[in-house]
Amino acid sequence: MASITRSAFVADFSKRSLDLNNPAVVSKLAAAGADVGKLKALADGSGKVTGQKAAERVFLDVLDVLDNDHSLDTILSVAADGTKTPAGRLYDVLDGLFAKPVQTQIDNMIGERPVLPTSYFAKDCRNHAFQGKCAFTIDDGPNAKYTPSILDTLKERGVKATFFWTGQNIQANPKIVKRALLDGHEVACHTYKHPMPPELKTYTASQVKREMMLTQEALNAVIAGDPELQAKFPQGYKLTKFRAPGGTDTPAIQQACAEMNLGYFYWGVDTNDWRKGVDKVQQVFEPTELNGGATIGSRGGPLLIHDIHDNAAAIGQIIDRARDPANNFQVLSLDRLMEGKTHIA
Ligand SMILES: [Zn+2]
Repeated sequence: MASITRSAFVADFSKRSLDLNNPAVVSKLAAAGADVGKLKALADGSGKVTGQKAAERVFLDVLDVLDNDHSLDTILSVAADGTKTPAGRLYDVLDGLFAKPVQTQIDNMIGERPVLPTSYFAKDCRNHAFQGKCAFTIDDGPNAKYTPSILDTLKERGVKATFFWTGQNIQANPKIVKRALLDGHEVACHTYKHPMPPELKTYTASQVKREMMLTQEALNAVIAGDPELQAKFPQGYKLTKFRAPGGTDTPAIQQACAEMNLGYFYWGVDTNDWRKGVDKVQQVFEPTELNGGATIGSRGGPLLIHDIHDNAAAIGQIIDRARDPANNFQVLSLDRLMEGKTHIA
């Protein structure tokens, strides 16, 4: 029985390249059911597509035929009579078509960003003392109405944030994505279509992975469509962090994160910015009683706030108040905040 995960699949092809100028290669690909048009869109000027890009694309094709009730193992398995599924045959044909391994720099798709441990895991940041340090994690956008003014506010104050964005909003707002990336912010994954917790809790790992891959694809498309972004991220931009809508946590989500090499992130301080009548700025500085009696707030950590609400002014106030010598609260990037803290359970 074949057993293959996305990461193994991509790793297997990561040092190879595929020559789409060769008609024999193209006809074999088409006969095997690969979407040649999508592969060609990934090719460089010489018509070659690197193994990693091709593998990512093919994996999406595989997922397109993946019934939610079946695992990839099933799809790629060999039947008792020796026949394979269409996706399994596609995998075999591609394996045969790829040229001999070539040295590429595609392994590190992170660009200028630091490479994080793949086991990066920050589940319950609320119970972890961050000792007067915080980082902005901004969820749900990009949003045409509210994100630009938030970017203005962050730029004025020299703060780098991590935006946990959805794939569908990335797709709808490429100019905002571009600006955030050129401003030096981090884009992270918040699923493709933001399934709410009751629905998300029923998702299989394959379904969660599909959300993650579609988000990565949406981001890839934004970068591929813009020369400035291509110049800044010649190796592409690999998403490395994931936050589930509603902070949902299931074994399927953890499995998907592990297989996609995405760190799982909860938050330390919830500004509760979506609740009416809550002072979202005060939430960050005043210890807040939780149900269990623990207090959060002044301990710092990743701050949760949203860019689908009018939050530019609040973010500015939080930064200004944090930097007031009376509070002496450091505002860091999420990577700096998490330095040395790779696992918070
Ligand atoms: Zn959300």
